[in-house]
Amino acid sequence: MSGISPLNATAPNQLERSLKHFFGHDSFRPGQREIVEAALQNRDLLIVMPTGGGKSLCFQLPALMRKGVTVVVSPLIALMQDQVESLKNNGIACTFLNSTLSWEESRSRETAILQGQIKLLYVAPERLLSERFLPFMDMVRAQVGICGFAIDEAHCVSEWGHDFRPEYRQMQLLRQRYPEIPMMALTATATDRVRQDITQQLALRDPKIHIASFNRPNLYYEVRQKTKQSYRELVKLIRESKGSGIIYCLSRRRVDEIAYKLQREGIDAIPYHAGMNDQERSSNQTRFIRDDAQVIVATIAFGMGINKPDVRFVVHYDLPRNIEGYYQESGRAGRDGEPANCTMFFGYGDIKTIEYIIDQKTDVDEQRIARQQLRQIINYSESTVCRRTIQLGYFGERFPGNCENCDNCRNPNPTEDWTIEAMKFLSCVARCKERFGMNHIIDVLRGSKNQKVLKYGHETLSTYGIGLDKTADEWKMLARSLIHQGLVEETTDGYSVLKLNEGSWEVMRKQRQVFIAVPKAPVNTDMTDRDRKKAEVEMLLDRLRSLRKEIADEQSVAPYMVFADSTLKL
Ligand code: ADP
Ligand code: MG
Repeated sequence: MSGISPLNATAPNQLERSLKHFFGHDSFRPGQREIVEAALQNRDLLIVMPTGGGKSLCFQLPALMRKGVTVVVSPLIALMQDQVESLKNNGIACTFLNSTLSWEESRSRETAILQGQIKLLYVAPERLLSERFLPFMDMVRAQVGICGFAIDEAHCVSEWGHDFRPEYRQMQLLRQRYPEIPMMALTATATDRVRQDITQQLALRDPKIHIASFNRPNLYYEVRQKTKQSYRELVKLIRESKGSGIIYCLSRRRVDEIAYKLQREGIDAIPYHAGMNDQERSSNQTRFIRDDAQVIVATIAFGMGINKPDVRFVVHYDLPRNIEGYYQESGRAGRDGEPANCTMFFGYGDIKTIEYIIDQKTDVDEQRIARQQLRQIINYSESTVCRRTIQLGYFGERFPGNCENCDNCRNPNPTEDWTIEAMKFLSCVARCKERFGMNHIIDVLRGSKNQKVLKYGHETLSTYGIGLDKTADEWKMLARSLIHQGLVEETTDGYSVLKLNEGSWEVMRKQRQVFIAVPKAPVNTDMTDRDRKKAEVEMLLDRLRSLRKEIADEQSVAPYMVFADSTLKL
């Protein structure tokens, strides 16, 4: 009898032995064993694990332990080829089908599959669901059996993710046509909304959901103010780092400019963006991966599916668009688990640039969401709270604070006891029936007589005007800190509404104290803040004009360039 029956497979050590046999690994990473067991019991699965966490093994190992073929849907040709290549190096029978193959080559691979010579078949989503391909799949099912579908990068089904691919939406057809075949969805995108979307879109049946921690303890997170010295700081940072690194910029022009400047400093830097031709891009990517170049300067077009374990630093020379993107991009550092640095330069000019990009969007919902995301990344950058706490909080993961591996934790601002203020603030949220955002709450606390306050009759609340001892900026600082510490929730669908949670009530019941980090410099008043922004904006306006069009182009083209069959349409 070929294949190992699931019962035997889960016997003590059998899985470990297979792991060693097929992949040479001594032990499972956290979660992998449970996932493999569930897969062998033919359960649907949703796996959320950070990049580099070891998701592939979760479908590869069960595929090798069962009869029949496992069909892997993967959106990137490069990724597909890499995985198949490295599996083959391990002596594993696998292959891929996509648009890069000649007709003859496709045929010969299809024959091998039908003869049962293949355990893992990688396909691009649009190929899988094409008229011609589905009948072939039917034959595979009838002749050798399909033991599972694995949908890699499953967040592509969700418009709420960062990489929506319309072809992924069609995947429900798989469920309809092959209802009996178990399905595993894998992603590194952790927001709850995306998770719900995946389950719904793929019609997963009572899936076992595995959500790994998104903490990457080896990464040091730092935010620096963008100043005239920032470029020198960048050069210093590169020189002081022994390994290779990625520098992310917002536009192609900026990428070219920085790459060129760095080259003139004698640094081995190469550019990467969607404005370059395919060949240049892939050659630069290969040079970076093979350590022929120390630094790659890139737009967000670079990175998805790139597996270079020893990236020692990722610099965001321009402000990233949102926290999710920042997490994913900075997360390309230190995949090998060794210490690595993630540095972001934060300047007010970038905010204007991103606001401009957002203004260009025609979809109102999209605009609203993008604005809120921008606000979140600004709050992150300005915050004095542990960076990890904020990032993980964004993914719904509670981190106790004080990670000791970010700028705010290593060089903490003095903390003060703001329990009384927090009680005032949260009571005001409660009195306003959890239907308003922080600015309104602050208006009420500070006794504003603006229209909105009067419209809702909030001037009659017991919390009206009890917060005059603090400035609006100080209240904002408290509010953000409460959000980041998980002591109040902020809705994330583009409308910012504060909601109380268990922690909020503990504070209000005096069961819990609230400490917040207060900046060493006094908190800016709105006025000087605005002036500063204005000055910087004017200075940058010139540059901005020429950047605008490019950025819009980059946005629409970038994520598509490296994609599988669908790119051909562009
Ligand atoms: P993901 O798809 O989650 O981004 P991968 O599946 O590409 O991650 O795995 C990342 C790296 O971790 C790969 O180099 C893989 O060989 C390695 N890896 C996965 N599981 C294990 C394990 N149990 N032991 C050692 N290395 C592992
Ligand atoms: Mg992967």
